[in-house]
Amino acid sequence: MILRRPSDSLVLGFSPGAKYRVAFTDVTETVHAISDMHQFSPAAEYVFGGTMAATALMAADLRRAGESLGVRLDCDGAAAGSYTEYSTGGHLRGYMRRKVLEEYDADPPANHEQLVGSEFRALAYLSRPGSEPDGKSVFRVSPPTFRNLVETYYLESFQLPTWANVGVRMDSAGVAKAMGIMVQCMPDGAMQDFVERVGVFTSEEALARVMDDPALETARVALGLPDIEIGTAVPLEFRCGCSRERSRAMLAGMPIRDLEEIAAAGAPQVVSCHFCGSAYEFPPEELREILAARKKA
Ligand SMILES: [Zn+2]
Repeated sequence: MILRRPSDSLVLGFSPGAKYRVAFTDVTETVHAISDMHQFSPAAEYVFGGTMAATALMAADLRRAGESLGVRLDCDGAAAGSYTEYSTGGHLRGYMRRKVLEEYDADPPANHEQLVGSEFRALAYLSRPGSEPDGKSVFRVSPPTFRNLVETYYLESFQLPTWANVGVRMDSAGVAKAMGIMVQCMPDGAMQDFVERVGVFTSEEALARVMDDPALETARVALGLPDIEIGTAVPLEFRCGCSRERSRAMLAGMPIRDLEEIAAAGAPQVVSCHFCGSAYEFPPEELREILAARKKA
């Protein structure tokens, strides 16, 4: 490759001549895995595929163990919103607020506006390991395209000029391919040239060429950057970071009054994971233990 691999990836490269960073991502298989788990209808899968590809591009700087970027979108379209998350190591997870959007299933891309509405209200949450502060960006994306989500995030959060393109191809079964391309002008890069080349970097044709043939040479020609070098390639896959321990910590963090109520009920409390469906059960004696520890603190 670059992207000549059967599985999903996030590939980072660089054009030394222009001093542009480039990134490519393919999230198709992961989108299928998550969609099968949640039973998304094709239109929900379409929106999810686009937001997941965008999220992978937005996470291009995540390297250290324990970092994650969560992207929550709310919109006034039929899809209502989504949550997508990338964790270092290439682990993806997420869900849609509405899983079935039958009315739009026949041709989701043609119904993009009805699905997402007039704008995305976005919250990007960057979790960092240890004692470092987490980063939070709140921004609006209008028009609410997947491409604009990536570009707005980098510009508003990092003042990093970015051109992006996200493609979600559909077939009768749902998402056939979900990919994204991004080009960023580094601080010492050729800015004027970068602005002028928006039409090339974001053209449907360039995106289609890379989607048809995700090879380095194709990307170089399609983007008009013949010197692109590939740096890192991270394989992507669905993985949920939930655990009984984390669910217990979540319970322990609830307001004391709510904890008292749960403990007083004397029944086991089940905490289910939104992302993977795992259920963790906490017996009454453990709930009383959690409450006692909480009162002591
Ligand atoms: Zn889970």
